[in-house]
Amino acid sequence: MKISSQQLNLVNGRIDALVSAGSFYGKKLAQAGIHSVSSPEEFEQLPFSEKSDLREAYPLGLMTAPEDKIVRIHSSSGTTGLPVIIPYTAKDVEDWAIMFARCYEYAGITPMDRIHVTPAYGLWTAGIGFQLGAERLGAMVIPMGPGNTDKQLQMMQDLKSTVLCSTSSYALLLSEEIEKRGIRDRIHLKKGVIGSERWSQKMRDQIAGSLGIELYDIYGLTEIYGPGIGINCRYNTGMHYWDDYLYIEIIDPVTLKPVPDGEMGEIVITTLVKEGAPLIRYRTHDLSRIIPGTCPCGSPHPRLDTIMGRTDDMMKIKGVNVFPSQIEEILQSFPEASSEYQIRISHLEGRDTMRIYVETNGTVNFLDLADRIAAKVKSAIGFTPLVKVVENGVLPRSEKKTKRVIDERFD
Ligand code: ZN
Repeated sequence: MKISSQQLNLVNGRIDALVSAGSFYGKKLAQAGIHSVSSPEEFEQLPFSEKSDLREAYPLGLMTAPEDKIVRIHSSSGTTGLPVIIPYTAKDVEDWAIMFARCYEYAGITPMDRIHVTPAYGLWTAGIGFQLGAERLGAMVIPMGPGNTDKQLQMMQDLKSTVLCSTSSYALLLSEEIEKRGIRDRIHLKKGVIGSERWSQKMRDQIAGSLGIELYDIYGLTEIYGPGIGINCRYNTGMHYWDDYLYIEIIDPVTLKPVPDGEMGEIVITTLVKEGAPLIRYRTHDLSRIIPGTCPCGSPHPRLDTIMGRTDDMMKIKGVNVFPSQIEEILQSFPEASSEYQIRISHLEGRDTMRIYVETNGTVNFLDLADRIAAKVKSAIGFTPLVKVVENGVLPRSEKKTKRVIDERFD
């Protein structure tokens, strides 16, 4: 989806602000002699920004508005090196609330709902974002934060919480605990708004089935406001995102060129109105695609598909970008296969080859299963892998993260 002229005008406003504040990206633009962009092609020439740039700006180098306008900071976790600090103006906080309230509305949540917030409060954007949007909507917030399952379940029963906001792992844990305690008929949940992790369809079905609720995927990242920049609607055809606040491109993470709508690639986000820390062409390293066409709900807001993983997991085979999650999804559709598999990529006689090792029990014809899996991969991804079916227990197990993809081309 090309950037519109209205969005371009907003980008130019952000370029002015960044250059005059002399923040890291402002300097990048000034060095490149860029003061404005007048077409989608010029926009696509703008340099990208990366998390490492944001880290280098620690602590407050991203601040683009005058300090008397900054009302708050948030920070992304610093698992490696310095954290990223994002300053917000009052308008940024309000815009975030508006976007988040819109997410709740898209999920059919109303001011009569009671919203049980379990993500953590503090420096990061999770808990406080869920609360901000709910208050803007006019719903009742139950600001639990994470942990203490006894108290969560007590409050959920006594206050008759109708909406659960959580990570998928915690929603699963709560649903199992509710079943174990036999208190499902005292739980009033109708919907779950789930953020922050990639989760499988199996897990989704488990949570939805066990709690009898509708599930909504919310998208966002600390660098871009926080959660609340997109959500799926009741038709569940992808996540609508708010293109009046953000411009989203999907790029090929290898060539860095935008790909056509519908094609998988890396999500790159430009904030259109953010004041405290505007970002232009920010590489999220999240993988997804723009879903072409319009949603049956009639929303004018475009859609992103479910997040398929991270660019670090991507493999390029025979010129096609492939993600382990795509293979995993295909394998999951074969009930005869176990959850274990291994992908090996090698370069033989001038050609890239993908071998997939799959485990099964002794009751099926190995060759037939291999053929059916190869055919399904071919129709989904476009090339035929070599599939080898093996007995259960043959593939290596690990107590830590199992290494499932081995690329032998660069050994
Ligand atoms: Zn829709």
